[in-house]
Amino acid sequence: PALRQLDVAHHLPAQSSYALQQELGGSRIITHAKGCTVTDGEGHSLLDGMAGLWCVNVGYGRDELAEVAYRQMLELPYYNTFFRTATPPPVELAARLAGLLAKAHGGELQHIFFNSSGSESNDTVFRLVRTYWMLKGQGDRSVFISRHNAYHGSTVASASLGGMDFMHVQGGLPIPGIEHVMQPYPFGEGFGEDPEAFAARAAQAIEDRILAIGPEKIAAFIGEPVQGAGGVIIPPPGYWQKVEAICRKYGILLVADEVICGFGRLGSWFGFQHFGFTPDIVSMAKGLSSGYLPISATAVSREIVATLRASGEEFVHGYTYSGHPVCAAVALANLDILEREDLIGRTARDTGPYLAAAMAERLAPHPLVGEARSLGLIGAVEIVAEKGTNRRHGGGGKAGPIVRDHCIARGLMVRAIRDSIVMSPPLVITHAQIDQLVDTIAAALDDAGEALSR
Ligand code: PLP
Repeated sequence: PALRQLDVAHHLPAQSSYALQQELGGSRIITHAKGCTVTDGEGHSLLDGMAGLWCVNVGYGRDELAEVAYRQMLELPYYNTFFRTATPPPVELAARLAGLLAKAHGGELQHIFFNSSGSESNDTVFRLVRTYWMLKGQGDRSVFISRHNAYHGSTVASASLGGMDFMHVQGGLPIPGIEHVMQPYPFGEGFGEDPEAFAARAAQAIEDRILAIGPEKIAAFIGEPVQGAGGVIIPPPGYWQKVEAICRKYGILLVADEVICGFGRLGSWFGFQHFGFTPDIVSMAKGLSSGYLPISATAVSREIVATLRASGEEFVHGYTYSGHPVCAAVALANLDILEREDLIGRTARDTGPYLAAAMAERLAPHPLVGEARSLGLIGAVEIVAEKGTNRRHGGGGKAGPIVRDHCIARGLMVRAIRDSIVMSPPLVITHAQIDQLVDTIAAALDDAGEALSR
């Protein structure tokens, strides 16, 4: 309890209401974790249905990651990459990522820039793309196209790239030169529409905007293969192929934000692999180190780096912690675990389908559920006021938090995004834990039924 009081007195948590923090008497203090279970300071254990924040892919309590960090700290805790210097771990990690990307992508994405977070990676994308076009003598190509409800981070540029209006209100965003188009949300904008027709319509919205602005002004299109923080929005089949074709038609760079999808979440190394498209730039974070230390990576095509090289110019961008040796060493060891335990193959063949079947059997039929969808180990349950529709209780935003709180009270950590409950458990989750996840959400829906019918 003392820590909770200090939390209220001094600590400002991220993306939080400080009134609510105070009202609750402080944040829940998570003190330790093992596997897929986190425990708080009052001894309550929770099944972690969110893998921290979509990131702890290899689960908690991996001694080998701690040992790697310890050894690297003793040997060399830090050196920069500003002085024509580097350290071994980021160089090795860049080569390792280039190898993984070559297998997934065909060898174009061979160059890696390191940062500490997904937001910073997308800021790197923003400056790199504009620098690239400037060096190509096409500096007018400066506009980014993104989607409504996209999440690309919380810095000024990355929150501007994101399409969350409630974030834009604070800080007077977006900054100029960023356009947002319709999201490919089958249960929202595409409700009741034939998926193929909706895919075509959502892609056409992008082309229409490109033509309205002028194709010669568009620098890049950025998108999450599956929108995560927007509510686990899985695009309809064919959408990404159409988006890719539009980008190629007008010579626009295609950026995949793989911060959530990368490193196995969808049952593939990268989300673009699952959907079958080939981006020019890829942002990665979260699962790259399973959240054990902060690190992100921006993968860039050969063509972009060739242009920078040919110009002889410096790319005057980067962070003190770009290529941090301890973070990179931990990321390398994390990739070893993903490979050794075949956690990605297991997600594709075993746990992903098991989750989908459990959701179809035990959540989809629930009277409050409009849709229960998943891909690999990411999923969402849409709560509706009337089955067969996408009509929401009280106009929207009421049901999600109620159901989430019942989940937490029953020992399951999940997140509410508007009126959906989203999940993204560690990739080490067992069948029994998936059953617990699904059955707890079903029970929480039952708990919430009465409050929602009022
Ligand atoms: N991009 C996506 C798709 C994300 O989901 C997130 C975070 O949730 C970010 C970028 C930002 O990453 P970070 O919070 O590490 O800055």
